Amino acid sequence: EDYPRYTWSRDVEKVMHDMFKLNAFRKNQREAIDATLDGRDVFVLMPTGGGKSVCYQIPACVDLGKTRGVSIIVSPLLSLIQDQVQHLVSRDIPSYAYSGATALPDKRAIQDDLRRPKPVTRLLYVTPEMLGQSGAFKDILQQLHAKSQLARFVVDEAHCVSQWGHDFRPDYTNLGQLRDEFPGVPFMALTATANERVKTDIKSSLKMRGCVELKSSFNRKNLFYEIKPKHGKQVYADIQKLINSKFKGQTGIIYCSSKRSCEDVASKLKQEYGLPAQHYHAGLSREDRTKIQLNWQKNRFLIICATVAFGMGIDKPDVRFVIHFSLPQSLEGYYQETGRAGRDGEHSHCVLYFAYKDTTTINFLIDNGDGTHEQKATQRSNLRQVVQFCLNKTDCRRTQVLNYFGEQFDPRKCHKTCDNCFEGVGTEKQDVTEESKNAVSLVKEVFKDGVTMLHCVDAFKGSGAARIRDKGHDKIPSFAKGSHMEKGDVERLFQLLWTEQVLGERYEQNKQGFTNAYIKLGSQYQQVLNGKKKIFMTVGKMSQ
Ligand code: ADP
Repeated sequence: EDYPRYTWSRDVEKVMHDMFKLNAFRKNQREAIDATLDGRDVFVLMPTGGGKSVCYQIPACVDLGKTRGVSIIVSPLLSLIQDQVQHLVSRDIPSYAYSGATALPDKRAIQDDLRRPKPVTRLLYVTPEMLGQSGAFKDILQQLHAKSQLARFVVDEAHCVSQWGHDFRPDYTNLGQLRDEFPGVPFMALTATANERVKTDIKSSLKMRGCVELKSSFNRKNLFYEIKPKHGKQVYADIQKLINSKFKGQTGIIYCSSKRSCEDVASKLKQEYGLPAQHYHAGLSREDRTKIQLNWQKNRFLIICATVAFGMGIDKPDVRFVIHFSLPQSLEGYYQETGRAGRDGEHSHCVLYFAYKDTTTINFLIDNGDGTHEQKATQRSNLRQVVQFCLNKTDCRRTQVLNYFGEQFDPRKCHKTCDNCFEGVGTEKQDVTEESKNAVSLVKEVFKDGVTMLHCVDAFKGSGAARIRDKGHDKIPSFAKGSHMEKGDVERLFQLLWTEQVLGERYEQNKQGFTNAYIKLGSQYQQVLNGKKKIFMTVGKMSQ
């Protein structure tokens, strides 16, 4: 082989071994390092825990002689920056954070170094707002650039650029300007968000043309994925059992949908189930949040009940379980949130507790939220996909999630590390189009009476309940057409038809503040009735 391929190859290996104490590169790390040292723009897509930091930290430490310079790392969160800087300093790598929160004497010391002909600083971490404004800091960068000591711009968590990302930050949108201000300085963008639309956005916003694109598989081998039905109070006992049997004394995150729910879940688990839980959400003071986060990171308590805002930028390697107490807003969110488990590569468990009725509040919030018409349509479609994912008791979870990111995944490679692969040999979906037609006919006859999906399920099953008789729904032709099916299957059929937009719901809040959902026909119902749309579902396997 033509090794060393590049003049810097031996230096790169030396830095990897001696400074970072690593034995070998993971997939795409070397490629990213070589490309940026070659002066090219690089786009790195790697799942959480994949090892993105190394891709820019190592090249920042490689001395290319003449072109040795400072790498500027743009990162959205101060806590994340502090973590990284501490880590690098402990390896004797001269690194600094420079932000609005940096003390003046520290700022001066950094500035003094950057003003030298050859600064000692290798990595300088900045928040995006530092780069947005002109001023002393920009001037120093200009000077660095003028003396060829500006090695590269690194944009970490680059999905923050995109409105379509799950964590849009307005300050990130101006980063593309740096192109014009610092011509010839290579960019490296890194993210764990693989969504196509977000990717296109990042590239155009950062004006990356002809860049080297490195995409790793997003499969997280060490995570076990599981969807469980969420029945009332039983869910707490279930969580207790899971933790006590598998993860006693270990750390985890429980994601809840609201501040209120974080508090409720944490206090129930603590008081009634004896688990070391604590809530965390945006309603707490900054002080409290920092304290809670720190205590959790130091294992002073183990289970954090948090809203999805928690977790980004928290690098706790030994999170053993991630529980979704409520539905994630999208499959993307599900992937990112579960991805916070097992960053150290050890086996970890992800459980999502699914109750169809959790969609009601989410939909109500979407309807009454302040997004544009298009954004709301996207949010609804994201939610339908999540429900479809939960209802699917046949296909490998990994295959489903990775397909969402446009990655083909052979389910045989799952090796039974998801509930469906673990349980399901020989389960196949069945054609339930006929049943669907009957269900649609039923809804068509009763929706004007303002009834719920559950009411329709009961009528379809042929229930003798008074509320069915009172409305005369026991007299309609499609009454009891689903009496041969299990109730759980009928429920899933109706829910599935909702995800396919064959059925729909409208949402109303009552005086007590509870949201009710009333069934209606969806935009696709004709397609089912006229046989153009077929419906497939696993029957007789699981009841909700
Ligand atoms: P990301 O930012 O992609 O989530 P990190 O850069 O934080 O991932 O890396 C995750 C973990 O993997 C860290 O503990 C890091 O030390 C480790 N790691 C990264 N690259 C390698 C490698 N080549 N060999 C062994 N461990 C690695």
